Amino acid sequence: MTIDITISEVGPRDGLQSIKHIMPTAAKKEWIKAQFEAGTPEIEVGSFVPPKILPQMADSAEVTAFATGLEGLVVAVLVPNLRGLENSVQAGAQKVSIPFSMSETHSLKNVRKTHPQMLQEISSCVAYLDTLPVNQRPKFEVGLATAFGCTMEGPVPEERVIRLAEKVVEIGVDEVGLSDTTGYGNPAQLKRLVRGIWGNCGEDKLTGVHLHNTRGQGLANALMAVELGITTIDSSLGGIGGCPWAPGASGNIVTEDLVFLLESMGLNTGIDLEKLMAVRELVQKALPDEPMYGFIPSAGLPKGFHTN
Ligand code: ZN
Repeated sequence: MTIDITISEVGPRDGLQSIKHIMPTAAKKEWIKAQFEAGTPEIEVGSFVPPKILPQMADSAEVTAFATGLEGLVVAVLVPNLRGLENSVQAGAQKVSIPFSMSETHSLKNVRKTHPQMLQEISSCVAYLDTLPVNQRPKFEVGLATAFGCTMEGPVPEERVIRLAEKVVEIGVDEVGLSDTTGYGNPAQLKRLVRGIWGNCGEDKLTGVHLHNTRGQGLANALMAVELGITTIDSSLGGIGGCPWAPGASGNIVTEDLVFLLESMGLNTGIDLEKLMAVRELVQKALPDEPMYGFIPSAGLPKGFHTN
């Protein structure tokens, strides 16, 4: 059966990097394997940042190498710069995203780079990828972070997001992704941004969105993305990570709820929801003190529901 919407599980990266507890490497591997076996086609397994900055991600090379052994899984990772990209390629990553914050204030705080410096870094990444043999070259995506607004700058002009997307596509990245890092987004804004980027860069240059549920708009935004024709949506199991400023709010949109939304609409995700719930238990056991979110896990599946 073909997959209509690709759910990219980002819990092992976005979720785990946002919590204090460090999940043991063995538990990460168990999680990734179980979620792959539940039908998840793509998993972001780690981040190639210095361990000093994110000790939760220190084992990313080992976890990436392990995940590449799961045949059929697309192994995605995040990198902050060229150095991280080189390390991720060595570990065997198949899809690599570099976040590029649309808010320059956020960019300076996060990676200490201005927009021109980030564009330079992205150019260096593309130049490096061009030296690789085709079978080692991962798909390279720029994540347009804080595209929907920034906790420091406030509103981020849509023209800026569209212009910077155009610039990085000109540099030669495979794709851009729209990221609502702060959970500020709404569906109308998402529609304008997707259409704006499609209009200037081409529809094949933007196929995925990364949403957070900080203000409860995550699934509404996901639905708009699907209606527009976006085919990859990031989410995290149990919405792990949460939001320190919004008690009760999950971090990323919750994978279990997203799978239910799509499958109940008749869209195939390839994911078996009952198996996915079992993965959730496994993760909760490894992180007993971390809250996990989601309406479907609390309420249960409707009587008679089955995945496509
Ligand atoms: Zn995120």
